[in-house]
Amino acid sequence: MKKVDLHVHTTASDGIFTPSEVVDWAVKKDLKAIAVTDHDTTLGIEEAIEKAKQYEDFLVVPGIELSSDYSGEEIHILGYFIDINNAALQEETRKLKESRQERGHKMVEKLIEIGIDISLDEVKKITDKGFIGRPHVARVLVEKGYVDNIQEAFDKYLGRGKRAYANRYKLNVYNSIDLIHQAGGVAVMAHPGIIKTQRIVREIKGLGLDGVEAVHSKHSKDEVKILCQLAEKYNLISTGGSDCHGVLIDGNPLLGEYYVDFKVVEDLRDKAEKIKQG
Ligand code: AMP
Ligand code: FE
Ligand code: FE
Ligand code: ZN
Repeated sequence: MKKVDLHVHTTASDGIFTPSEVVDWAVKKDLKAIAVTDHDTTLGIEEAIEKAKQYEDFLVVPGIELSSDYSGEEIHILGYFIDINNAALQEETRKLKESRQERGHKMVEKLIEIGIDISLDEVKKITDKGFIGRPHVARVLVEKGYVDNIQEAFDKYLGRGKRAYANRYKLNVYNSIDLIHQAGGVAVMAHPGIIKTQRIVREIKGLGLDGVEAVHSKHSKDEVKILCQLAEKYNLISTGGSDCHGVLIDGNPLLGEYYVDFKVVEDLRDKAEKIKQG
């Protein structure tokens, strides 16, 4: 089997590995392709594609993971084979980055109000290309000893409804799917098992969804099976990946531990061709 991992984060969003490091790891783990799917940004893709040229027979699929609102719930929509130079996509990702910076500022202010010694500069220092995510704020809180780990930072301060939580601008699911299509890409619902709602998959299918991510590090075997069946029932492409953010477990990243066959890349490419032709 030619293995591919179609859900990978880099330092361009909240991952720990640079795009180049991600490609090196992927080759080391005998993957034939990865999709770089950073949250709300495409700024890691060029470096990954450039790095991939060092290797024979290894492909980087340009992707994105758009945090989207669906009736007050946060749903993530993956885009595959997007044109990263598409004007609408660039404009929207610029707006998302700006709103992440504003939210970063708000979160830091709230933490200061609680009596925590933290500054926006400390957060910015560990980010890359202007992307501020809650994990960056969490890492500073861990570093400064306010919490023992990232999870505790979310549980105590940064999780939804917690004391330092702040909202930010998000696309709604329909706009996300539409934007991915405008950029010539294929729209896939990320980790549906986490939300555990088959109804939502059905409803979003009506909004133009092309696929569901069946294989994912947080899906149980049963969930994978159910999601594959669901994909078949609704004629959706089923995809999969690790959602690796670069955390090491005994020196080993999640990257490549959850994978699908290269055939899925071909299916996504064919679908993207059709979308590009309108
Ligand atoms: P943001 O998009 O900036 O709101 O941050 C969301 C990101 O934070 C997710 O993509 C995860 O990488 C991470 N995250 C969310 N909730 C948790 C949690 N409870 N523990 C650790 N990481 C989390
Ligand atoms: Fe993340
Ligand atoms: Fe996600
Ligand atoms: Zn992800």
